[in-house]
Amino acid sequence: MGLVKVHQRIENACEKAGRDRDGVKLVAVSKVQPIERVVAVLQEGHRIFGENRVQEAAGKWPELRERFDGIELHLIGPLQTNKARQAMELFDVIESVDRPKLARTLARLMDETGNCPPLYIQVNTGEEPQKAGIAPQETDAFVAECRELGLPIVGLMCIPPADEAPSLHFALLAKIAARNGLEKLSMGMSGDFESAIAQGATSVRVGSAVFGDRVYS
Ligand SMILES: *Cc1c(COP(=O)(O)O)cnc(C)c1O
Repeated sequence: MGLVKVHQRIENACEKAGRDRDGVKLVAVSKVQPIERVVAVLQEGHRIFGENRVQEAAGKWPELRERFDGIELHLIGPLQTNKARQAMELFDVIESVDRPKLARTLARLMDETGNCPPLYIQVNTGEEPQKAGIAPQETDAFVAECRELGLPIVGLMCIPPADEAPSLHFALLAKIAARNGLEKLSMGMSGDFESAIAQGATSVRVGSAVFGDRVYS
């Protein structure tokens, strides 16, 4: 447990996969974590974080940005269109673009403000009805649609089904990204990030292995 240990595991996984350590970014997922734990990880020098709710991030990160330089904040949870403007102001990367309506809203705001953070498209590789993400067979068309809107799509993101071997889902995501000319792959969490690195992850989203178990109150 802890930042140092996770870095070690990432390094080992890169070595095993014959990959350069610099090719894998650690996004420390701080959702729900007590603020002291987040501050402790910032004090250890880590700067890349992920949050899955706009509201929660808005209550936490503007203040932390005043205390610590160089923070890079990723939105990794579903985004409602009525929170898109706030999300574009708050986050440095949005990893959860998952439907045409959201893409059109982001494009409109980009045209209005002249800014848009780098975006990932979330793919529902397991085609789970309760999970966000575009279906695998619709992803090529959606990437094309986003590009036509001028959106800065840099990669794909997925959350595999809890009860299936994640490596098949990681491999599928890598294949869809490759055929669409997308370089970034956000995949792998505390339980499976080594497997994601073996399949080409360029960033892993790790929460509990960095901070400890989430305490929901
Ligand atoms: C919570 C969350 C994670 C981190 O999960 P852990 O199992 O704690 O590492 C990663 N990705 C997303 C999208 C999440 O919501």
